[in-house]
This record gives sequence, structure tokens and C-alpha cells, in this order.
Amino acid sequence: MTDGVIIGDGAMGTMLQSVGMPPDLAPEKWNLDRPDVVRSIHGRYVEAGAQIIGTNTFGGNRIKLRDTLHEEVWQMNYAGARLARDVAGDHVLVAGSMGPTGGLLAPWGDLAFADVMVAYQEQAEALAAGGVDVLLIETMMDMQEARAAFLGAAKTRLPIGVQLTFQETGRTLMGTPAQVAAGVFHELGATWVGTNCGTGPLAMVDIVTNMQLMAGNISAFPNAGLPTIKDGHEVYPMEPEKFAAYASELAKAGAILIGGCCGTTPHHISLLRSSLKDQPFTGSLPDMLRETVSSSSHTPCSTWVVGEEPSGQGDSAIFLASRTALFPIERGGDSYHFVNASSLRDLPLGSAWEVTEEDSSVVPVALLNIPKDFDAQEIAAAVTELQMVPAPVVFASDTVSSLQIALEHYCGRAGVLVPEDGREQDYVELARTLGALAVYA
Ligand SMILES: [Zn+2]
Repeated sequence: MTDGVIIGDGAMGTMLQSVGMPPDLAPEKWNLDRPDVVRSIHGRYVEAGAQIIGTNTFGGNRIKLRDTLHEEVWQMNYAGARLARDVAGDHVLVAGSMGPTGGLLAPWGDLAFADVMVAYQEQAEALAAGGVDVLLIETMMDMQEARAAFLGAAKTRLPIGVQLTFQETGRTLMGTPAQVAAGVFHELGATWVGTNCGTGPLAMVDIVTNMQLMAGNISAFPNAGLPTIKDGHEVYPMEPEKFAAYASELAKAGAILIGGCCGTTPHHISLLRSSLKDQPFTGSLPDMLRETVSSSSHTPCSTWVVGEEPSGQGDSAIFLASRTALFPIERGGDSYHFVNASSLRDLPLGSAWEVTEEDSSVVPVALLNIPKDFDAQEIAAAVTELQMVPAPVVFASDTVSSLQIALEHYCGRAGVLVPEDGREQDYVELARTLGALAVYA
């Protein structure tokens, strides 16, 4: 739509509170009860120069709205999409906002991946029916929750942006570094990846720089600084002038889409637009690091290619080669790296834990000869446990169906060993769809 940086909108939640919405009310309710207020906030952002506006549906999933009838959840999302669409017209894009569930997924909490995926699919379908152009998964602190949201939202076939929130350490609350998140969602097919909320624009410059290592289209929606409490209300300290000045640093770091999160107002966006006017988009997708596997916590540092098998090794081994080292993987052996069907119930986490972040090895996981009584949920549960393993995983599976369950539940970018038996295309296609790296023996 433009050669320059695209301007996003600012906060919705803090704007609604500033006009008197009770803090304990689900803001999505106002899409039905006070549409005039929501519409006017959208209108003020469009007037300020936003080229893409987010719907008032941030908390509109059925897990977060657990006390609300399912039918009403759908109506709140649909109405939120319609309101933004009415204001946006044909020249401004509408992003369907999808925030966290407020719960914790397994293995850290008791939410099942599949249930979370369904909740987001339901929300995404309501937003799509209401006419959004894209879906925006945002403020995610757990990459696995963001992945569930992505896979649910992808059922609509709309373009999807994914934004995570990082702490001052440069990692999400659950420990994922920015470049890992960027790589995982880029490979899953996100239209853009980025970051929102958090401590303010300055802290985001490094995050954008790191995301640039793994993905091309990066967005940044910072808060207006860190809030303080004044008279029982949260107050965001950063003035629009300062905010806009910092935002141009984000553009220089390579962000293509910049807006504001908590505490930002139409005034912030208006000055942001002035400061970014004529600012060209400087980011680009690096042509390296695409051949990378990563766990949810492991910084990908090697480019993985298939190496020649050195002489003297048995033909039962495959080799993954980085630029600096060869890593043999024994096929069918019961060395600690391998998980075969009979031991899948007892993943050898003890030994896998010993793989440190400095060790750029991978953990091969075999899903072979899985017994008939071993159902999909058990595979899912076992693979979910793999989130705790710091090193990235390469799956070898004798069926596409087990592999699919494994890839859906693996929180990171896995490798997939492609068999040489005429089914290559099925494996490669599945790996591509679920953002994994195809590895050839
Ligand atoms: Zn925020």
C-alpha cells in the first residue's frame, strides 16, 4: 500500500477507560452496548493518520470470556469487526485483534493446545465474518499460545500478523528470544511478526533488530512508557513528542509497521505519522538463517545443511551439518537422543536437559512403529513435554499422521526427516505447512 513505513493505530483499552469504561468490564462488551464510543475512537485514529486499525476484540476469546455465552462471544467479535470496517472504509485496513487467553497451556498449565486452538479459530471466524482484512495475534507472552492462536486463525485463510511482548531481558515471559519467535512465525507463514506492549519504544529497538535476523516484515507497537499508578488509575508517562521521536528509531531498525499500545492516543499517532512521513522502509529479509531449527528457548545460531556421510560410519546414521560441525544421529539405536515408540511415554528428559544452550546439537525424536493403542493425545502430551528441552528437535516419523500431531504441538521450529520411499512430497508439504525444516538423510 506504500513504499514507506505503515502507520498503525494506538491503544483501545486505555482510551475506553479514559472515557469512563469500568475497569472490570470486558471491553468487547462495548461493541454491543456502546458502539458509538468504539466507533469514535477508531475514527480519531483514522483522522490521526492510521493506515491500519485494530478491532476492539483483544480479549474476545471464549477462554478469557469464560462467563459469557458462546453466542455472545461470537456477536462481540462480529460487531467489533463491523464497527472498525465501517470507519475504515476502503482506504484503511482492519486488523482483527486477538489477545491472550489469560490461562497457561500445558505443560506449564492445564489448558490443552487443541482447546486453545479451537477458541481462537472461533474468534477468527467471527472476525472474518465481520469483514476484517487481516488477523492480528498480539501481546503474546507464551509462544505456544501464539502458535495455537495462529493455527486456529489460519483456518480462515486470512493474512495473519503475530506480535509478542518481551521483557527487558529480550525474551518473552516464557523465555523465548525475539529472533526465535520471528523465525517460527515467519516459517509458519505469518504475513508479519513483531512486538507490542512492554516497557516502551526504546526497549523495542533491539527486539526489532533481532527479529530482522529471521523475518522480513517487522511491526512495533510500543506502550507510552511504563505505567505508574495515580489516584488508583494507571498513567502512561511518555509524551507524544518523545514517543514519535523514538518511533523513528524503530523505523531505522527496520520496522515496516509502527503504531502504539497501552497509553498511546490519537495525538501520539498523529505525531508518529509526521515523524515517519517520507521515512522509507529500510528492512529486508536476510538471505541467511532460513535453514534453521530452534526450540522455544534456543537461539538458532547455525545454518543446517545436509552433510556428506563421512566414510567409516555405519549406513544407519544420518548427519546434520552446521558450518562448523557434523552431528551424527543414530537411527534406531537407543542412545539417549533417540525416543522410539516403546519409550515415548517416558521421554528421556533427564539426559536431554543436559544439552546446554551453548551445545548447538539437536535432539532427534523418532515416532516409529507407534502402537495402535497409542492415541493422538498421548503423542501430543509427549511432544508438549519437549518444550522443556532447550535443544531443537528433529522428528523422524513413519507416518504422516503422527508427524502432523508432533509438529502441531512442538513449540519451536522442528526439523523433519524426509523418508526416501516415494512419500517425500507428503512430508515436505506437511513440514512447509507447519513451518518445519525438511531434512534429508
Ligand atoms: Zn499494551
